[in-house]
Amino acid sequence: MLISAVYLFSSNFEFYLYKNMAKPLKYQYFVKQLLKWNQLYNKREMPWKGEKDPYKIWLSEIILQQTRVEQGLDYYHRFIDTFPNIHKLANAKEEQIFKLWEGLGYYTRCKNLIATAKYISKELKGEFPELYDEILDLKGIGPYTAAAISSFAFNLPHAVVDGNVFRVLSRYFGISTPIDSTEGKKYFTTLANELLDKKLPGEYNQALMDFGAVICKPQVPLCADCLLRDKCEAFLNNRVNKYPVKEKTITKKTRWLYYIIAEYKETVLVRKRGQKDIWENLYEFILLEQDGPVDKGNILHQFFPKTKTGNLPYIVEYVSRIYKQQLTHQTIYGQFIKIQLTAPVRLAGYEKVNTSALEQLPFPKFITNYLKDKSVSLNLF
Ligand code: SF4
Repeated sequence: MLISAVYLFSSNFEFYLYKNMAKPLKYQYFVKQLLKWNQLYNKREMPWKGEKDPYKIWLSEIILQQTRVEQGLDYYHRFIDTFPNIHKLANAKEEQIFKLWEGLGYYTRCKNLIATAKYISKELKGEFPELYDEILDLKGIGPYTAAAISSFAFNLPHAVVDGNVFRVLSRYFGISTPIDSTEGKKYFTTLANELLDKKLPGEYNQALMDFGAVICKPQVPLCADCLLRDKCEAFLNNRVNKYPVKEKTITKKTRWLYYIIAEYKETVLVRKRGQKDIWENLYEFILLEQDGPVDKGNILHQFFPKTKTGNLPYIVEYVSRIYKQQLTHQTIYGQFIKIQLTAPVRLAGYEKVNTSALEQLPFPKFITNYLKDKSVSLNLF
């Protein structure tokens, strides 16, 4: 009786130790080493670091969603210079904002940015919400961005969980739960919040994101210089490249876009792209989309058949080389065919704009790459 009581006590005690001592020690080590690295070695500089203005933090976070910091920097500066406060952004013409966004991709972000700016400027009189749940309710803001804004601007204890955090935590703790599963998202969010330094949530969050970007990088992490390596499961078990685990593989689609630039007396036909596809709200020329490469003559013929007298209603001026753009889930190929129409033409859905006004319109990067190509003999830009 006594023996079993002792056994029960000791096994419970071991469990208690495991739950309440062993795990937290690994946690404490993680937090201590991370903050130490941040204070002594973190040299990563970004203009929004240490920023307390929620408008600027929000802008930087939206720009950086799906975008590399190096690419986002210029955009951030241009946005802040053009729209120094939320009222300026809310009152700007949408086309001006989309034009500034041009090249960043994922245009739904820009659409949501405009909607949220208008809402805060008009409904909230320019006052950015200060509570996590209120921030989360704003259009285009998910848990990650809400945690970043609330911790950086208002020092609220919410942990950011992004690709950097998934990677660092999965490697350090040796977690094999897929990061793209519902279970994985919950697990990592709980763990990240347990680890969070509640007194310094902003500093801690920034440190972890920087650490993931600078030391525990996706490819070739700097384990030799890492202050966590003595307790890092992935490093100790030689499994660094096995983490993070994902359950889904991305299936990529290939699209061929043929654009016709149909000019007639200093005008050209364009249209605004519709919803539920890439490049929503951006402009484009006459488009024919195909699954693979096709004959250019046939494409032109579909839009501009021969006249009754058997003549072609256009003169082909230029056919571009094949362009390529890689998006996350799609590979886009395409060609541009510039023609001079011999008579004005109306095409359903397309409008006539002056070629000198094209510079003001926001185009997808795929098209601006072509228009800015020095080898293209166009006088459009
Ligand atoms: S030891 Fe390597 S894998 Fe582990 S946390 Fe450090 S950089 Fe990442």
